[in-house]
Amino acid sequence: MKKILLVDESPATLSALTIEIKRHMSNTEILAASTYREANNIIRHNQNQISAAIVNTELPDCEEGQGAMLASSHNIATIVLNKNENNVLKHLMTKKNILDNISTANPNFIAYAVDFVKKVLRNYKESVLLVDDSKLFRDAFKNDLHKLGFHVIEAIDGKEAFDIMASPQGESISVVLTDYNMPNMDGIELTMRLRERFQKDTLAILAISATEDVDALTQFIKAGANDFISKPHQFEELNVRINANLDVLELFKEAKNLANRDFLTGAYNRRYFFEASSAILNKNHRKNAPIAVATVDIDNFKNINDTYGHDIGDIAIKEVVTVLHKSLRKSDLVARFGGEEFCILLEDISFENTLTLFDKLRKNFKFNDIELKDIIVNYTVSIGISYGRSDDIDEMLKVSDDALYEAKSRGKDTVILHQIQEK
Ligand SMILES: [Mg+2]
Repeated sequence: MKKILLVDESPATLSALTIEIKRHMSNTEILAASTYREANNIIRHNQNQISAAIVNTELPDCEEGQGAMLASSHNIATIVLNKNENNVLKHLMTKKNILDNISTANPNFIAYAVDFVKKVLRNYKESVLLVDDSKLFRDAFKNDLHKLGFHVIEAIDGKEAFDIMASPQGESISVVLTDYNMPNMDGIELTMRLRERFQKDTLAILAISATEDVDALTQFIKAGANDFISKPHQFEELNVRINANLDVLELFKEAKNLANRDFLTGAYNRRYFFEASSAILNKNHRKNAPIAVATVDIDNFKNINDTYGHDIGDIAIKEVVTVLHKSLRKSDLVARFGGEEFCILLEDISFENTLTLFDKLRKNFKFNDIELKDIIVNYTVSIGISYGRSDDIDEMLKVSDDALYEAKSRGKDTVILHQIQEK
């Protein structure tokens, strides 16, 4: 749970910020204060537990800017809200932990402030590899990267950076910030060599370059750098470029996730089931461990559609996923195979437990009334299961499908399990 401190005299601003934070960030606790005194109390009671703060420069019981100074002096990443630019604000912006100031005259200031907090909290999880042979420049960047919430790992040349990226530590790094001129291996060669291992959708490489080095810049981009930051850098530029590139990485991650999901239910799709299941089957085959594959199908689904229409049919299908996720373990692979049919792959489960689990699941569906505005929809499911040791997902699916067919022909609302023949 991340704690976020909001300090503003206006109840409307506090509540708008709270709503926006809750909408965009799960797992956050809001601590709200309308005076300096309240903020001080909250900070004292939550020593070292507050991750970020949004603080108005004008509070009723202190000098201008004192509230923000208070938060920043307790090492809290602070965003300042202000009515207008002035000298107090200018002074504040030079302070450690004060990341940005947002004018309340901007009609979007609430959304902007919350987006900034969201990025700061994201950055706490991110590691940046900073590569420069000059300690002076490294220190300048490190300072600002820390201010933005990043964990910083340093390398003094391309060679050291490459070795870090090739080690297990490299897995945790999402951004490489590299200088051009360095002994042993320069930034362009580093970029080229990193791109052989890491695609642009998993690692952002940002070149640090003096503005007069136009040629180097072109070569950097050709070698696979995503972007560049000029040297000496401005805090604002670093902030914008790094966060923009992390946003892109996040979008790639989301897109990958979407491509694996069924649009209607959010369960995994058929393609992903095949991709993931072959890996799981291989692993269990090596361990000589049995697995279970179950096919779950809504009984008389056509009747639901004919009686209530497709919208209700869709609700019935979505309900399958809700019931399955409630009854199964997180590690079980659940996919929609099309229409009203779902497939589940379970590992680390005994023969007896498989039977007990799916019979309980059958009953969960039978006694599950979906209460809609003026109707109650209820349906049963039939379940076919294959159980045993196999490294062939097609065989497991074929056997569970045969079992499902048998369950249907025995009058539905039934579970049938077929064991895979040992070869
Ligand atoms: Mg250099």
